[in-house]
Amino acid sequence: MAIERTLSIIKPDATRRNLTGQINARFEGKGLRIVAQKRLRLSRAQAEAFYAVHKDRPFFRSLCDFMCSGPVVVQALEGEGAVAKNREIMGATDPAKAAPGTIRKDFAESIEANSVHGSDSPENAAIEIAFFFSGLEIVG
Ligand code: ADP
Ligand code: MG
Repeated sequence: MAIERTLSIIKPDATRRNLTGQINARFEGKGLRIVAQKRLRLSRAQAEAFYAVHKDRPFFRSLCDFMCSGPVVVQALEGEGAVAKNREIMGATDPAKAAPGTIRKDFAESIEANSVHGSDSPENAAIEIAFFFSGLEIVG
């Protein structure tokens, strides 16, 4: 398994409840290194651009409203098989279906306000990391 990087977002429901440190501890405890991180508030246009792949889904409008409703913490995580490992640590999209011990099982409020985003493939990870970070901001 290769060393990979993946894009993670701690979503507004989690920053509002002051869960950034607890979520970061899950990543670090499972061997992912936070090699870039910043807190920002997405504009509506930025949220729409980031989630453009979902623009025809019924939840798109509400998802973009939610994602720009408060601060997010965007991060690049690095480690062995980081893309799949992060998806495991996150758990299923719907917290009701997420495995015990996952971030979404333990922290998510709903299928929409589900605390974290993680890239779903190495290809998308590269695109999503470049959306938020320049090369200079990533320090492995
Ligand atoms: P994931 O974040 O697990 O990769 P998706 O890429 O399918 O899930 O969806 C992106 C985000 O859209 C989810 O994390 C969640 O915030 C929201 N979402 C997905 N499905 C629904 C739904 N049925 N209703 C409301 N929001 C949803
Ligand atoms: Mg996804």
